[in-house]
Amino acid sequence: MAVAARNVMKEIPKVDRMLCWPEIAALLDKHPRPEVLSAVRCVLELVREEIRHNPDASLESGRIISLIVAELASRSRASLRAVVNGTGVVVHTNLGRSPLADEAERALQTISTGYSNLEFDLSTGERGTRYDHVEGLICELTGAEAALVVNNNAAAVILALSSLAQGGEVIVSRGELVEIGGSFRIPDVMRQSGAILVEVGTTNRTHIRDFQAAITDATALLLKVHTSNFAIVGFTAEASLAEMAALGQEAGRPVMLDAGSGCLIDLTPYGITGEPTISRYLDAGADVVTFSGDKLLGGPQAGLIAGKRSFIDPMKRHPLLRALRMDKLCLAALEATLRLYRDERRALLAIPTLRMLTMTAEQLSRRADVIIRRLRRTLPDTASLLKHPGESSAGGGAFPLLQLPTSLIEFKMAGHSPQKIEAALRRAATPVIGRIHRDRFLLDARTVMDRDLSVLAQSMAEACACLAKEQP
Ligand SMILES: *Cc1c(COP(=O)(O)O)cnc(C)c1O
Repeated sequence: MAVAARNVMKEIPKVDRMLCWPEIAALLDKHPRPEVLSAVRCVLELVREEIRHNPDASLESGRIISLIVAELASRSRASLRAVVNGTGVVVHTNLGRSPLADEAERALQTISTGYSNLEFDLSTGERGTRYDHVEGLICELTGAEAALVVNNNAAAVILALSSLAQGGEVIVSRGELVEIGGSFRIPDVMRQSGAILVEVGTTNRTHIRDFQAAITDATALLLKVHTSNFAIVGFTAEASLAEMAALGQEAGRPVMLDAGSGCLIDLTPYGITGEPTISRYLDAGADVVTFSGDKLLGGPQAGLIAGKRSFIDPMKRHPLLRALRMDKLCLAALEATLRLYRDERRALLAIPTLRMLTMTAEQLSRRADVIIRRLRRTLPDTASLLKHPGESSAGGGAFPLLQLPTSLIEFKMAGHSPQKIEAALRRAATPVIGRIHRDRFLLDARTVMDRDLSVLAQSMAEACACLAKEQP
């Protein structure tokens, strides 16, 4: 066995010789020499490893060449790539959250490829501030007196806490000491902002009198946090924002809400209940509300702060702001997205996140039919596509319990497990991400976008070819 293995090893072609093979020489015309050399070495190492496990593994030159071609192709691909989201989770944090509206894309294009009046006041010819481009819009859409934008909502919370409560006590319900993921936990953020956390109430029940009893001379702020990604059900009670606002007013202390997702349109007519709009929160008496730009709002990564001028103005002068400031590309996309909200009907159609969330079951069923018809044109007979009713979720730490009726497309290939299919689609040139449920590989019609249709067909054909090669 050991002898045989050594003999096969000797049959592995040498790098110098391989560089003279016409197929490899042709690669040298297209790629830098060190890149080709490195790919050849990498594939040879792979082949050696293979032979160590299986001395009968193929050393056929055609196979080695195609491995090298594939290796080079994968090296020249960007790391951050477009994927098809077939998960049905609309605001999918791992898949880039909200896809932007065309209007936002155009703004990005214009602002990114040239100069702009980012911090230049065109009316006076003097220095301006970047925040002015969206403050008026945010106030108009939320009814706030003043507004500010930063990098993301985590930054908004840190800036607001640092500005409102550094060195003071912040009272929060025990039921709202949330972890959002990626190490954003309210107690840690509080410490980082130099505020002292005062927990009140219990995990399932907190009353306004708990807040009342906790107010001392050291109290700087009353904080409410949206329990975005979980729900406490059963025997529960919480102090409402309105009750907290009344108490804050009485005690002369500001009340802040970390609203998490942040919704600017009432989505109840579309069956999406339980997420008040930012203007409702401000009406209830919140002094400062922070929320994300790329969750339900459907824009770029951003953190929006809306509220009373007397609390927002000091944030504009806070030394942290420079470190948390939003870049011009996100700002351009955010302004374009917010402008769409001036016409609610337009926003619901033009902002992909809102469009996908508000699709009806009938629309989704028809959409699944369209996708299936389009895919059948390209796929081999061994592949089959079936439509099933199912459910999708909003994602993005919004509506943790909400399940929206949808249509799912099951993709089957004779003799291949759903796990094999999932892996093959994930490795396609444009990866397709779906889910496996009850031993079926499924794509949700809700999050497969129109622009995805032809790449989806291509990736599926690629996956079929790939699976056919490794016959079961
Ligand atoms: C998502 C979320 C955050 C963090 O927002 P990012 O924009 O991702 O930084 C903070 N708080 C709550 C309640 C959230 O849901």
